[in-house]
Amino acid sequence: MSMIPYARQYIDKEDREIVSEVLNSDYLTTGPWVERFEDALCSYTGAQFSVALSSATAALHIACLSLGLGKDDVLWTTPNTFVASANCGLYCGATVDFVDIDPVTYNMSTQALADKLAIAKAKRCLPKVLVVVDFAGQSCDLKAIKALAIEYDFKIIEDASHAIGGKYNSKPIGCCEFADITVFSFHPVKIITTGEGGALLTNSKEIYEKAKLLRTHGITRDPDKFILDNHGPWYYEQIDLGFNYRITDIQCALGYNQLKKIDSFVERRQELASRYDLHLRDLPIVLPFRYERQLSSLHLYPILIEEHNGQVNRKQVFIELKKRQIGVNVHYIPVHLQPVYRKMGFRESDFPLSLQYYNKTISLPMYYSLTNEQQDHVVNSLYEVLFSK
Ligand SMILES: *Cc1c(COP(=O)(O)O)cnc(C)c1O
Repeated sequence: MSMIPYARQYIDKEDREIVSEVLNSDYLTTGPWVERFEDALCSYTGAQFSVALSSATAALHIACLSLGLGKDDVLWTTPNTFVASANCGLYCGATVDFVDIDPVTYNMSTQALADKLAIAKAKRCLPKVLVVVDFAGQSCDLKAIKALAIEYDFKIIEDASHAIGGKYNSKPIGCCEFADITVFSFHPVKIITTGEGGALLTNSKEIYEKAKLLRTHGITRDPDKFILDNHGPWYYEQIDLGFNYRITDIQCALGYNQLKKIDSFVERRQELASRYDLHLRDLPIVLPFRYERQLSSLHLYPILIEEHNGQVNRKQVFIELKKRQIGVNVHYIPVHLQPVYRKMGFRESDFPLSLQYYNKTISLPMYYSLTNEQQDHVVNSLYEVLFSK
């Protein structure tokens, strides 16, 4: 049996055809497909504006800049995320800090956030930006977090890199009802893919315009925005310091076509999760919690391996599953444990619930084209590994 990865893309004939059409067209980048993809993202989520970008990392960076994050400011996020959710703060020269997770959902704990905000207010070091992460595809409690944002005057970036295709209170994740900005990733392991790619969604015209400007060097061709004299029809002006964070037409055509399939992608993930729930329920492991009233896009299926008479532990299970051709993974090494963050003074014990979770977690294979037979192999292997000791 060949290796079953923990995640992978699904590309069909229509995806290949649409990409090859773009390759034969006049534009490889910044042509008609970028706006078509952006419009489709707005229709799908209900957000008013969207900017497609070269990655979610680029989207997070531009999101922070669009909210005015700078070197005297503070950004908070969760330790249980990919490093990019925190790095965007460092790119802007801001101070980064973390809020520990909820031990049930593995998302940022709303209570821990409220407690930390009260302390930060007294010390006058409140965050300007909070990056929340919809871990594994399940939305954070955005309504409660928005209430805190109003009380303590900070902005919300929802890192929904895992979560496109999911719902929160019956509305699509990305609608920006409670977040100032939502970010998606289209890396091949995520729900839909453009190879590399990401997007920023918002209901603020101001944020949208700033993000579009920063996507391409801070250059404008709109005469109304020129600061100096217009030299003629060739003239453009760089009015801000931006980047090349553009996404290609090739990628956007693929993204557009992938988006058409997203609901069936998520539906299959639901089926697979239900099968895992059923077949793994008698094992000495903790299965991932899902709110019945919310729709998780189920990017990940993380289980917790409890210490078993001090014998079977996470590392052992991980190694044994790999030996059986199962490409398990760990999400996430808490960000504050990374050397770049340790150097800033974070200690291992700073966020104990993230650390406890990290020490036990393994992400099982979860993707649209995972077959029932492959999933059965994962289940049977787990039984073997957990009961052979
Ligand atoms: C994948 C991921 C990112 C980064 O996405 P890229 O598109 O690869 O830049 C950021 N945050 C989270 C939570 C992710 O899972």
